[in-house]
Amino acid sequence: MSDLNRFVEGELVLLVDRKDRRYLFNLADGESFHSHGGIVYHAALIGQEKGVRIRTNTGQVYYATVPTLADYVTNLPRASQVVYPKDIGGILMVGDIFPGADVIEAGMGSGALTMALLRAIGPEGHLSSYEIRDEAISQARENISVMAGAPENFRIRSNDIYDGIVEDTVDRIILDLPEPWRVIENAAQKLVPGGIIVCFLPTIIQVHNLAFTLQTHSSFEMVESIEILLRPWYIAANSARPMHRMVGHTGFLVSARKCAGSIE
Ligand code: SAH
Repeated sequence: MSDLNRFVEGELVLLVDRKDRRYLFNLADGESFHSHGGIVYHAALIGQEKGVRIRTNTGQVYYATVPTLADYVTNLPRASQVVYPKDIGGILMVGDIFPGADVIEAGMGSGALTMALLRAIGPEGHLSSYEIRDEAISQARENISVMAGAPENFRIRSNDIYDGIVEDTVDRIILDLPEPWRVIENAAQKLVPGGIIVCFLPTIIQVHNLAFTLQTHSSFEMVESIEILLRPWYIAANSARPMHRMVGHTGFLVSARKCAGSIE
């Protein structure tokens, strides 16, 4: 079997216990993971197949696997509120983020959405991420390096995007900041014809303001406002019902397409 299928030193591992409690950490020879379920020595995992069950010193069983991007994003060291995986998925689809796309994003925050955008555009695409807070930039850089390294097609701009988009033209604009309507005039100039803007907003007041700005702007069409609700279910031998707890609210997505003008 290829070594790619085995845990190596330095790699991220996700440990899951029988009650679905999850722990994410880097493997380091000589270190050990402690929880109330007992101890797992990192050395016992290094060299093992990814996706094995392992016992702690007290006999508790953990599943040890490779974290997905969603696992990683949910456990990220945070410099800001991060976009939840359900909304990231929505942004990628609503924004039609394709391999090779030229994308700009603001603000970058902790870099959760950034990592998903980098994956979706692939090595042929380009991503510029705007962020005004230095501590967010250094936290995001660190977070991104764990999953994506330092890709050459990725640029961080410590600019205030309200002052203007530096790029000449872009295929997609993704905004996660408080006043996206302040970017709309500039977005109209910089988006390619048919280009798409997607904004994530936590409150409906912001949604109304932004959607109205887009609807009354001659350079945009197909303004859509949606909310993505995710309801996990509990399934067992004699039970199948929604979970008692769910995340009640994250935010809304507002999107629009660039209009190139009218044929007279
Ligand atoms: N999408 C990010 C979270 C962004 S939080 C993630 O998934 O991790 C919003 C961020 O926007 C904050 O870090 C804030 O500093 C930044 N921000 C706010 N106004 C901005 C502006 N005008 N230009 C650039 N960044 C801005």
